[in-house]
Amino acid sequence: MKRNYLATLMVSEVSLHFGINQKITNNAKRKFLYVLLGFIILPIILYKAFYKFKIPYIEIAVTAKCNLKCEGCSNLMPYYKSPGHVDITLVKRTINTLLQASREITIMKFIGGEPFLYDNLYLAVEQASGSEAVRNIEITTNGTILPKERNLECLKNDKIKLIISEYPAVSSKRLIELLEENQVKYETRQFENWEDYGDLCKRGYSEKDLRRSFRFCASAECKTVYMDSLYTCPRSAHGRALGLIPVQGAEENGREDSVNLISTPKKDLRRKIRGLYAVPYVQACDYCNAAWERKMIESGKQKCIIFL
Ligand code: SF4
Repeated sequence: MKRNYLATLMVSEVSLHFGINQKITNNAKRKFLYVLLGFIILPIILYKAFYKFKIPYIEIAVTAKCNLKCEGCSNLMPYYKSPGHVDITLVKRTINTLLQASREITIMKFIGGEPFLYDNLYLAVEQASGSEAVRNIEITTNGTILPKERNLECLKNDKIKLIISEYPAVSSKRLIELLEENQVKYETRQFENWEDYGDLCKRGYSEKDLRRSFRFCASAECKTVYMDSLYTCPRSAHGRALGLIPVQGAEENGREDSVNLISTPKKDLRRKIRGLYAVPYVQACDYCNAAWERKMIESGKQKCIIFL
């Protein structure tokens, strides 16, 4: 009788003890999950969503050399007296910086000048196409230069599409035949007219007009990398590189018109790039016809053709 009593007591003690332990274990598990969610998973989600951001579209200008000299070139190429290529090491470094700063680049476009004058183009294209973060690659050409050897080989990739700007003054027939022979994706874009951004004199627009011009300007979406820096648009990039748009004054009111992708410390890079995507206008907008004042001019009209 005494032994039975002791046995019952022991069983109930054990089950009581086991129940408490289970409760403790469940609580600990819950706490562990909260910690995991709050301190590890949630910050990763927020970091990916907001900190490492997506770049919808970016242009990489690999050369200022061009075999055409179009009137009203929005990229200001005819202003270069001694146009040159961007060193491939620098091109690759800037692409690498962009890849480190962003989680996706939806469209990376290589432009010039005329990119097929750049013998190292394939190295930059291969770097971009080898990255999963770069979803689509475009190369804009005036359709007059036939890519050779590795510059042609690198185009045979599903991610890559050639954009041929067709102007009345030039023919891209031979290039199109070559692309079809090699099954390279391409698209032709006919431009009868384009907007005239005007000369590089200071206009003296009011702040309100600068903001309005920027808001309605299609080029404001064309963030451009030239040499070591990222700019808001091609005109800002080349106007500053040419020394025709002053740098001084650009950083007033905390606004930054460009980001140096090489010298900016890593910890500031994403904040600065995000800042550039959020500017209300840039200094260059005051050296450019306001969006509502632009006339349409004949596209691709040649001042004279340069043979390189
Ligand atoms: S300078 Fe300003 S207004 Fe002119 S093209 Fe660039 S973003 Fe547009």
